[in-house]
Amino acid sequence: MMLVCSRRCGGRLFRALFAEVELDAGGEYQDYRIAQHGYICLNCGSPAFDLGEVPAEMEAEALADEPKSVATNILCPVCETLVSVDEGMECPNCGAPLEVA
Ligand SMILES: [Zn+2]
Ligand SMILES: [Zn+2]
Repeated sequence: MMLVCSRRCGGRLFRALFAEVELDAGGEYQDYRIAQHGYICLNCGSPAFDLGEVPAEMEAEALADEPKSVATNILCPVCETLVSVDEGMECPNCGAPLEVA
């Protein structure tokens, strides 16, 4: 569990919104159900979320943010054509394997 304020206000106190504890007539704990998923930052009132619950999501976002492989312009060592290549490509002119520095 790692709660953080969605506004990163630095608040360290949060209120869980989801727990509705059910008690019987004698006050004995019966069960709880998820009424509303989420937390609220007590400092600024913004929604907070649990970092421990979203690692996969964050990872997917991080991956999506990664730049696509950028084509590099290099000179073919064989025919000296300037070619725009991704890693592991061959020269489109003479078919020589090209190494991207
Ligand atoms: Zn906050
Ligand atoms: Zn070539």
